[in-house]
Amino acid sequence: MIPAAPLPMQHPAPRRWQALWREAVRDPRELLDLLGLGTLAAGISDAAAAQFPLRVPRGFVARMRHGDPADPLLRQVLPVLDEDTVVPGFGLDAVGDAASRRGGGLIHKYEGRALLVATGSCAVHCRYCFRRHYPYAEDTAAAAGWREAVALVADDPTLHEVILSGGDPLSLADHKLVELTDALRGIPHVRRLRIHTRLPIVLPERVEAGLLDWLRALPWPVTIVVHANHAREFDPAVDAALAALRSTGATLLNQAVLLRGVNDDVDALAELCERGHDAGVLPYYLHQLDRVAGAAHFEVPDGEALRLHAGLAARLPGYLVPRLVREIAGEPGKTPLRATTGRIADAE
Ligand SMILES: *Cc1c(COP(=O)(O)O)cnc(C)c1O
Ligand code: SF4
Repeated sequence: MIPAAPLPMQHPAPRRWQALWREAVRDPRELLDLLGLGTLAAGISDAAAAQFPLRVPRGFVARMRHGDPADPLLRQVLPVLDEDTVVPGFGLDAVGDAASRRGGGLIHKYEGRALLVATGSCAVHCRYCFRRHYPYAEDTAAAAGWREAVALVADDPTLHEVILSGGDPLSLADHKLVELTDALRGIPHVRRLRIHTRLPIVLPERVEAGLLDWLRALPWPVTIVVHANHAREFDPAVDAALAALRSTGATLLNQAVLLRGVNDDVDALAELCERGHDAGVLPYYLHQLDRVAGAAHFEVPDGEALRLHAGLAARLPGYLVPRLVREIAGEPGKTPLRATTGRIADAE
């Protein structure tokens, strides 16, 4: 018999997500040039860019409005001079994680669930992120081959949920994820798995066959919490990625951060919640900003946050209204924002 020629690949190879990851824009001046905003270069902070480099996938840049210096997507990623202002109360460990670290990349802060800092890498660098000062290199679970983290989970029968976070846990190769969940499978008290990831939003190409196969084969109910702050972060590629994730049976939620100049009005927030729902995602949390050094210019005061949230509740069905929360060190969970006095508390 004549040996068959090697089979051609079944699909024309899509651009692999790793390649798209590597091709991310990293130079603030290039980003501005791509958007026709070269004249804004004087507002870039080289110090901020050195401390926490710009990184943004080109597909996300394509969703930014050309020529709009106030674009809400651009504002989330561009290192600007405002970051250099030292503001009292904005520090390095804004959420008190240090005290809850158990080693091996595990952070056990809340009852029943532990967060695994799977990796320090993210496809996008969000300027407001509290992890911009996190000492990743020392303490990620994947770096330690998962062993320490898995042993800690196995030793604590009160832990029913493992939360993969980071960094972005889906920045790991599929086989690393398989390695982790294979190790967790044998732990009888683990009942659910949660994944906190911004990748389906900023680099939807990450959602490919291998990842979907992994999700489908997991023995636990899976919740995927994505992170979009503005309706324009969704586009058809993101919709397709989210639909594929849902097809695995996973529950999809969104968490957002309330950000000055990005989503600090009722229209923007309502559109975010409705656009997310169009894509099969329910709102989960709307976070008050963590008070991290370099992010003060994003802060929305609590009174205004409560008014925005009340406006949202007045406009949307209850299931499309995220919980407005803040992280307070030492509290048993995320703390709902409450007005201390008056009518806003009634409206809550
Ligand atoms: C936010 C967070 C969680 C999850 O809290 P939920 O209210 O369950 O979403 C768990 N661990 C840590 C350390 C967290 O910061
Ligand atoms: S993707 Fe998440 S963890 Fe990464 S920089 Fe953005 S907010 Fe922070």
